[in-house]
Amino acid sequence: MKRIIMHIDVNNAFLSWTAVLYLKQGSKIDIRNTYAVIGGDEKARHGIVLAKSMPAKKRGVVTAETLFSAKKKCPNLKVYPPNYNFYKKMSDSMLNLIRKYSPDIEQMSIDECFLDYTPVKHLYGDEIEFAYNLKKEIYDTLGFTVNIGIGNNKLCAKMASDFSKPYKVHTLFEDEVEKKMWPLKVDDLFGIGKKTAIKLHNLNINTIYDLAHTDGKFLYKYFKNQAIDMIDAANGKGSDIVVSEESIPKGIGNETTLSHNISTREELEPYLLALSENVAIRIRKQKKYASVVVVTLKDKFFKRMSHQKKLVNATNLTEEIYKTACEILSEMNVEDGIRLIGVRLDKLSDTSSHQVSLFEDIKVREGNNELEKTVDELKEKYGFKVIKKASLIDSKVGKKYLNK
Ligand SMILES: [Mg+2]
Repeated sequence: MKRIIMHIDVNNAFLSWTAVLYLKQGSKIDIRNTYAVIGGDEKARHGIVLAKSMPAKKRGVVTAETLFSAKKKCPNLKVYPPNYNFYKKMSDSMLNLIRKYSPDIEQMSIDECFLDYTPVKHLYGDEIEFAYNLKKEIYDTLGFTVNIGIGNNKLCAKMASDFSKPYKVHTLFEDEVEKKMWPLKVDDLFGIGKKTAIKLHNLNINTIYDLAHTDGKFLYKYFKNQAIDMIDAANGKGSDIVVSEESIPKGIGNETTLSHNISTREELEPYLLALSENVAIRIRKQKKYASVVVVTLKDKFFKRMSHQKKLVNATNLTEEIYKTACEILSEMNVEDGIRLIGVRLDKLSDTSSHQVSLFEDIKVREGNNELEKTVDELKEKYGFKVIKKASLIDSKVGKKYLNK
């Protein structure tokens, strides 16, 4: 059965929410209608534009440019600080409002979520009418506008919510992909970063139609494992499983905010190693094994992305967790700048329930496990500095991490 998935996306979230905050505090001015931007912390984040009002946009102000350059374009520009606590409150209020209608909600980032409408359609009727009512209810009760995209999977719903803004409902059902999505530039396809788009244009792949009709083997040469996902996406194929928070088993995770944005895998890998080591030690302490490794990234626009991999055999070994995390990272887009990275272990069990595998030497594995246990014990006894894995010593970050 075809599912009906909605993507609900706050229009210009940081600026709208700041406007709501000031109006709540009694301000007579709605900053959405003035030359206004939300500017990051001038010192730590080099003073960049996080969000801009429509009037500022019309003056040529763009997201992620420096405040200095924005003020040159628009001398009357007012800069307002972000208020993440209030944003979180607004985000929670919106999710709670949507949750009245269905528990099947997956939050994608602070200002957007997916809703699986399929199981509740018989209760609320036509999805388009429902979407119009929902966006009105959000505006009437919370004071900000959203776009709602409707499709048969998450990718299409997400693409649809982006079509034109603000305060719109769009559909992109399977049979509309050809007409509504294929004419768009590849740059507009969800998951395609700026650098990837440039590479595609260099291969003369310019529209989503072009990408949808590109040979997988040809594209693999340039994009490795990402190639097939890209072609699938261009054909409007994607997951239709909305993973609500309640259905996620609590795992063991750790994440770290980077001091500057990083846009290469090579630079991110040492962080992955340090994080893998951290979660591996914790899981070994609990005498548990994980069969799923999750890598989470947050990009410079605070968008969270999580990819996961299921292991053939549950593990608690740093090396295996790290290796898997690197495989996951190799399939994720980091080119546009990453500001946070995390590793989580899920589907925890009490045994490794090893199946005999032709490709694995169990004795080596168990030897390795004993070694890791000894390492952990020594670390506890003598401190972290005593035992350093060769691989960690090789990396600058690993060194810094171990010397803490
Ligand atoms: Mg948004």
